[in-house]
Amino acid sequence: MSTKPQRKFQEPKQQLDLSKASTMNCEACGNYLFIQSTIIKKISAIMSPNGQEGLMPIDVYSCGNCGQVPREMLKGTGIEPIEK
Ligand SMILES: [Zn+2]
Repeated sequence: MSTKPQRKFQEPKQQLDLSKASTMNCEACGNYLFIQSTIIKKISAIMSPNGQEGLMPIDVYSCGNCGQVPREMLKGTGIEPIEK
C-alpha cells in the first residue's frame, strides 16, 4: 500500500511571469490599451435554435485610441475590420 497522500488539487508551481508574455497591440495604430465593447448580432427567427428572434451580445475589446477591434476577436462574427 502506498503511503503517499493523494493530491486532489494541483497547486501552481510558479507564478505566471507576464513580462515574458507578448502584449496585444492594435493592428491599426499600435496602441496597447483596449476598452471593452460589445458586438450585438441580431438572430432571425429562421436561424434561431428556438425559432425566436433575439439579440446575441458578443464581448470584444476595441482599441482605446482608434476603436479598431482585433481581427481575431471578429472571427466568426461576419464583420470585417475597418481598413484605414
Ligand atoms: Zn488603434
